[in-house]
Amino acid sequence: MEFEPVIGLEVHAQLLTRSKMFCACSADYAGAPPNTHVCPVCLGMPGSLPTINRIAVEYTILTALALNCTIPEFAKFDRKNYHYPDLMKGYQISQYDLPLSRNGYLLIDDAGVTKRIGIRRVHLEEDTAKLFHVDGASLIDVNRSGMPLMEIVSEPDMHSVEEARLYAMKLRQILRYLGVCSGDMEKGAMRFEANISLRPKGSTLLPATRVEIKNLNSLRAMVHAIEFEIARQTRIVQSGGTVEQETMGWDETRNTTYPQRSKEEAHDYRYFPEPDLPPLEIARAWVEEIRARLPELPDQKRARWMNELGLSAYDAGVLAAEREIADYFDDAVRIGRARGVDAKAIANWITGELFRLMKETNIEISAVKIAPAQIPDLIALVSAGTISHTIAKTVFEEMFATGQDARAIVQAKGLAQISDRDALAEIVERVLVEHPKQVAEYLSGKEPVVRYLIGQVMKATRGQANPVLVNELVLEKLRQLKT
Ligand code: ADP
Ligand code: MG
Ligand code: ZN
Repeated sequence: MEFEPVIGLEVHAQLLTRSKMFCACSADYAGAPPNTHVCPVCLGMPGSLPTINRIAVEYTILTALALNCTIPEFAKFDRKNYHYPDLMKGYQISQYDLPLSRNGYLLIDDAGVTKRIGIRRVHLEEDTAKLFHVDGASLIDVNRSGMPLMEIVSEPDMHSVEEARLYAMKLRQILRYLGVCSGDMEKGAMRFEANISLRPKGSTLLPATRVEIKNLNSLRAMVHAIEFEIARQTRIVQSGGTVEQETMGWDETRNTTYPQRSKEEAHDYRYFPEPDLPPLEIARAWVEEIRARLPELPDQKRARWMNELGLSAYDAGVLAAEREIADYFDDAVRIGRARGVDAKAIANWITGELFRLMKETNIEISAVKIAPAQIPDLIALVSAGTISHTIAKTVFEEMFATGQDARAIVQAKGLAQISDRDALAEIVERVLVEHPKQVAEYLSGKEPVVRYLIGQVMKATRGQANPVLVNELVLEKLRQLKT
């Protein structure tokens, strides 16, 4: 029998707030010495009282809206009780039956096919402390404890490793567009848990048992873990066995899963409403205020650029990938439009030369010295015939290195195209005198040699001659020699 995987993802995203979820400690703990961003609340001291970070709630609602979720009128926080050394209080403040949002979806583009992946809920909880296991000892850093952590739970709607990968990448892109999470997996700002089961191909039933894999700290780890788990479950069912419901960990170095515990059920956590926090009444006006802050999202940008600017799906996709780049392009197009510069030409310069130079010098768009307005300026110089496209590339490199305007570079380096008829005629004359052999060939009927002669003129002018004019003048002079 053939089987297909059923995959659901839980994504944890640290929010880019200034303070932690329930206390005033600074959330900017990256690189800080261990246990320096702590207070009685995030240390879990008895008697300390939490307060809700309003920005974290707003970021979660903003994300939920971007993921097409419904925001209920009423939400609350609950205690999720379990024992683990990284959990300071012995419970985690999370959300159980009344989360901040439900029932959304996200669209992925799988090789040209749009697929809709359901979002079960987006809720808010607190992060745990971090454990380090060194030389047989375990060390704890409480800086991460109490960081606002958003959990985005998908429906089990994915049926291949590729769909899971596309979902995770799309989600990361949206979070970064919204500015609610850095998406920096190396710093642990985004972590995954994958739920996997198998069912006979063609079935629409949801398998009753699933395996959950925790500790997936990168896309790579997630992809490998899911591949590994699909293969493991396939072996079991094909040899007539049954897959046990369990929670596994992922061993990055050995590339294998290991059993952690048999999967706990919700009742194991003894959830109950957090008595130290008020429930949240979510006014509709507040939701609308947050909705008004939604930026244009990547799908919308791509569609607009394709429809209104005529960009290819590929170019639109590349330019929409990162918000900073998308904004950069939009700025350049807006300024270019006022100067009659075509958006497609701007797209070509950005996806071609700019991306190439960014890659070569290993810098991000934020560090690029060329301002968006400087790109249409350069293109205008080419359209006006002041410089050739080849020279424009040289000018662009100089702009990239120094941030100077195209016009200033052209002037300072004397790069303007030579369109002076008399000056060029003189150079053509000289080149023909210097190449008697080729001229003779041309006159004896070997016409293609004219291209070589034009090339020599271009070379003599360091590529600055107006090519159309050179063409005309060379032919004219040769015609004169013929008669
Ligand atoms: P948990 O027990 O992890 O707290 P949930 O009931 O919220 O959680 O479900 C967690 C995830 O498991 C969801 O992303 C959901 O899509 C996924 N899931 C549920 N059933 C299956 C299944 N049979 N196969 C794969 N994933 C599943
Ligand atoms: Mg889970
Ligand atoms: Zn604190």
